[in-house]
Amino acid sequence: MSEVLAWIDDALQDLKERGLYITIRTIESPQGPWLTVDGRKVLNFCSNNYLGLANDPRLVAAAREALERYGVGPAAVRTIAGTMSLHVELEQALAEFKETEAAISFQSGFNANLATIPAIVGRGDVIFSDELNHASIIDGCRLSRAQIIRYPHNDARALRALLQEHRGQYNRALIVTDGVFSMDGDIAPLPELADLAEEFDAMLMVDDAHGEGVLGHGGRGIVHHFGLQNRVHIEVGTMSKAFGVVGGYVAGPAKIVEWLRQRGRPFLFSSAMTVPDTAACLAAVRILQESTELVDRLWENTRYFKAQMKALGFDIGQSVTPITPVMLGDEKLTQEFSRRLFEEGVFATAIAYPTVPLGKARIRVMISASHSKADLDFGLEAFAKVGREMGVI
Ligand SMILES: *Cc1c(COP(=O)(O)O)cnc(C)c1O
Repeated sequence: MSEVLAWIDDALQDLKERGLYITIRTIESPQGPWLTVDGRKVLNFCSNNYLGLANDPRLVAAAREALERYGVGPAAVRTIAGTMSLHVELEQALAEFKETEAAISFQSGFNANLATIPAIVGRGDVIFSDELNHASIIDGCRLSRAQIIRYPHNDARALRALLQEHRGQYNRALIVTDGVFSMDGDIAPLPELADLAEEFDAMLMVDDAHGEGVLGHGGRGIVHHFGLQNRVHIEVGTMSKAFGVVGGYVAGPAKIVEWLRQRGRPFLFSSAMTVPDTAACLAAVRILQESTELVDRLWENTRYFKAQMKALGFDIGQSVTPITPVMLGDEKLTQEFSRRLFEEGVFATAIAYPTVPLGKARIRVMISASHSKADLDFGLEAFAKVGREMGVI
């Protein structure tokens, strides 16, 4: 047994030597602007908790109430044992929030992509996929068995040429892209993609995991941001980021949702979200529907932090969202930078290959509405100190 697994020791050692080994820290406190990590209180600059909802008392109360009323788990796959009214309520609220005909929830955003892509394209069809799309889109494409054609990142002109060359040889076509690219914080040229989808008779799907709760009026996402309602066929979302909980969904025309109920494999063969998760997500949607306050604060914090980082002389990439990549390049330097920040009381993770290309390592700072100005200033001071010490600025 030990011998047949010996390759893992070599592979892990290799990762360590190349500065690519991931260390997972343990968090002993609730999510929030400050965390207790490995026994230390540190500023949280790395979670996707954009709006601070992960530990919001309104979500906690909704989860508790639902627990008392419905218990813990859904106990089976929805198509076999029936669906709980709570899930139906959440799906209606999501459709209302996104202003689509319908929505369907999944256990995660990852699962939403695995469910959707193979359900809408297969052998004889073609997928045009941005080269930097999220792993769950890539896996969904592979599972579909459709022909996959990758197009250069955010390059609508190159995509047009590829559509012209290949579209005619296939039956159905799908253009799929991340809305916000999570490692760089740039966004897809969705209006151009919508034009191309119409011109070349293709379905258009956007994964808005980092866009909802962030972009568009009150955080309604990238489709709202561009005013493209009714021109994007499928919006994939996650409830693990700005919504602060866990779960995924697809919002779109009723017939897409109906089809996914019949053919989405993670829907058909895996149990639904748990009761407290579902109730907490529902509370999150209602909060976003009632007020834009949290989203507004997120953007205020983002503008402040980015302006200060630029003034300090850091390269913060091309982001147009709260995702702030502090570009350092070298993998080992970036890991060392992150370690030094931690010593200074700031938890900001190094992101390196294979998550981003080799030589493009960075510290990714995630801004949240829950940060106070004093929190941001604390973080800025630490960046300035470590940046000078390591000769980056
Ligand atoms: C985070 C992310 C996912 C996965 O979402 P989960 O709900 O955590 O599974 C999917 N797509 C994109 C673009 C993401 O950034």
